[in-house]
Amino acid sequence: MNNFNKDIFKKLCVISAPSGTGKTSLIKKICLQNSNISVCISHTTRNPRVGEQHGIDYFFTNQNDFKLKIKNESYLEYAKVHGNYYGTLIDSVVELLEKNMTLILEIDYQGAQIIKRKLPLSRNIFILPPSIKELENRLRGRGTDKEDVILERLKNAIIEINHAKDYDYIVVNNNFETAENQLLSYLLDIDMLVDSNIRKEPLIDSDF
Ligand code: 5GP
Repeated sequence: MNNFNKDIFKKLCVISAPSGTGKTSLIKKICLQNSNISVCISHTTRNPRVGEQHGIDYFFTNQNDFKLKIKNESYLEYAKVHGNYYGTLIDSVVELLEKNMTLILEIDYQGAQIIKRKLPLSRNIFILPPSIKELENRLRGRGTDKEDVILERLKNAIIEINHAKDYDYIVVNNNFETAENQLLSYLLDIDMLVDSNIRKEPLIDSDF
């Protein structure tokens, strides 16, 4: 990482949220409407869900290929999430940042910790669901996962939400449009120095 102009990482923004929070829909809409904001496509060993496309949602790969890239130090970060590997390639990140894009990494809290440690100039945002009950309703409502997967994701959601306090900003996705506007304002707020004592959002609500 030492060969790059570190200033480009000011435009790097990590976004994390438990599955079912609406993170992907929010990010897709923002990227569609703002040509200067892009999202980095991760590699994963998990199977594609119905409707997901290789090279658009993820680069779907196998364990051997993933492990080879780990060995070759191709990943800026990677983690095992819900039993599968997920990772961000260094080259993809640098290529997009060098085009002067604001770049989103849609990754879990383990990846977020690695990025903050490696690239302190980057910023991070955590998206919370309005409540655990609402998250459960959304996970069941989307009808893409089996019961054991839903239960595993809910269990992981509690673990992930416990890390929300470590992020620079917190957005609660109660209303899609409000959350979208808030997320966009944080994403574009590149020159603001983040003071961990001054959060823009109140801390996690009593529901959690
Ligand atoms: P899903 O399988 O629902 O698409 O994603 C599961 C989790 O993996 C989400 O929390 C998502 O943000 C995270 N994730 C996706 N890509 C990456 C990545 O490249 N690195 C890390 N650390 N987490 C990722």
